[in-house]
Amino acid sequence: MGMEMAGEMLIGENSVFGTRMSFQKSVLKNLLDVSEFKTYLKFIQSYKQFVKKVIFYKVKNHFTGENKMITFEEKLHSEVIEEITLAIKKAEQDSKKNDIKGFIENICKELEIKLVFPKDVVDKISTLNNANQQKFTESLQCSVKDMDKLLKTSFQERDFQSKIDCLQTKPQDVLFNRVWGCGKPCPFCEAPCEAGGGAHTEHFVSIHRPKGLGCYGFDDSKKLVTDICTSLVHSDKCFKCLDTNDQWHPYKEYKIIYLDWRIDPDPSIKASLYWKYVMTSFINWLINSGDFICQSHVDSVT
Ligand SMILES: [Zn+2]
Ligand SMILES: [Zn+2]
Repeated sequence: MGMEMAGEMLIGENSVFGTRMSFQKSVLKNLLDVSEFKTYLKFIQSYKQFVKKVIFYKVKNHFTGENKMITFEEKLHSEVIEEITLAIKKAEQDSKKNDIKGFIENICKELEIKLVFPKDVVDKISTLNNANQQKFTESLQCSVKDMDKLLKTSFQERDFQSKIDCLQTKPQDVLFNRVWGCGKPCPFCEAPCEAGGGAHTEHFVSIHRPKGLGCYGFDDSKKLVTDICTSLVHSDKCFKCLDTNDQWHPYKEYKIIYLDWRIDPDPSIKASLYWKYVMTSFINWLINSGDFICQSHVDSVT
């Protein structure tokens, strides 16, 4: 069911989960709509938790609206019940295996892709080999009907959270793995690595942010740095932080400190309009936020 729910989240209004890029774009757009400094702060400083919360909220919002969860459960449930009923019918009609053991084996085989029956239970039923097969089939069909009613009632009684808690594969985890990628923050601006999966040797970001958003300020004035990483690694400027043991280090040689990062030098790229807007909109908050300014990070003006 978790996989089916995740699949449902890939279509229609939720198609933002289609690609990592479209998801990123929708998160940035939502941040802009909310336009709250503390939300941006959470996004920048606890990106992974932030993304997980956004995904869970979207899943919950989708499935709790207009009784969608119950409708969804009933649809899946009806399909499964139909398959079980069909498997019983098919097994009943198989003239080659006309004892209980063969009958049960046929049902298990028919449903093996979707339902796994514990072997000890199957073996126990198989010992009823002398039972009347017609009666056994009728009794099984009645049990399926009872189970159908019982489960339908339980859909109405349980809330969304308890249903999600019971799922072995959770839709929010499936979606998270789909859109997350690597996520390691750029050591300068905190923008998350966009390379997919774990099999990459260098972390990479296509749009770096003004470095002040990664807590970097000028050494003398403490003003936040507005340059972006790709311009800085092209410049003759230096930086110092905990990773350099508080010693000045040229940006051009950033790889000595951050071996697993690839930040291509580019003097032509300016900070994106989006992040420029964020910095100017929240500049007073940024300056006054004790949480945000990290004193161990400073930027040389040379
Ligand atoms: Zn960066
Ligand atoms: Zn990476």
